[in-house]
Amino acid sequence: MTKTPADRRGLLIILSSPSGAGKSTLARRLMKWDETLQFSVSATTRKAREGEVDKKDYYFVSDAEFRKMVAAGDMLEHAHVFGNFYGSPKPPVETAIEAGRDVLFDIDWQGAQQIRNSALGPYTLSIFILPPSIAELHRRLVSRGQDTPETIAKRMQKSWDEISHWDGYDYVLINDDLDATEEKLKTIIKAERLKFAQQPRLTDHVRALQSEFEDLQ
Ligand code: ADP
Ligand code: 5GP
Repeated sequence: MTKTPADRRGLLIILSSPSGAGKSTLARRLMKWDETLQFSVSATTRKAREGEVDKKDYYFVSDAEFRKMVAAGDMLEHAHVFGNFYGSPKPPVETAIEAGRDVLFDIDWQGAQQIRNSALGPYTLSIFILPPSIAELHRRLVSRGQDTPETIAKRMQKSWDEISHWDGYDYVLINDDLDATEEKLKTIIKAERLKFAQQPRLTDHVRALQSEFEDLQ
């Protein structure tokens, strides 16, 4: 286990779902709940939607800039989704988890798989969000009001591809009631933070208990 100056090592918390199931909404709620959580701002070659802010929602970059980041080894993972490149910049994640801060990712199954298979795999908590139904998924994409009918059709077509990877995740939640799903996510995160592997200082504490115990003999 790597020694860190923090009480515990940070977790890589991954949320995936078909587009429209609610992961961005849930991620925003989690960020409000715990201000120590760090959102992993992805780089993407897709165009910004109305209201999206560069460097906050995404780093909006050109194809050439994206390729340069990948070639420099600066991406923890990257994938081609809906005709655009998306990737998670590595340096901010490494800094955060070494300092004991958890990082929240809103990424697809390909990115989740790459992170799970990386050196950071043991520190990963992955959660898949399912919609209550495909009809509701469509309704949510339409009600979000951010995509053209063509883009919505493309996202709906791809939804099964994403859903088919549901069983590779640590936890799977059906996002029917938003408040209930948020509560479940908080419960999962709170429990994962208490796992043995997340608490490097436990070994020192047990050693101290042992020496106190031996002094009493
Ligand atoms: P994703 O990030 O998975 O693409 P969003 O978080 O953007 O999905 O959610 C899509 C739309 O569905 C948004 O308008 C959001 O407010 C709405 N939504 C999310 N979760 C629920 C829910 N449990 N019930 C009803 N509407 C929801
Ligand atoms: P959107 O265009 O709706 O913001 O995102 C489309 C899809 O790309 C979503 O499934 C989202 O989770 C995924 N995505 C966003 N950022 C990344 C990333 O950095 N890596 C990967 N692999 N997928 C991402």
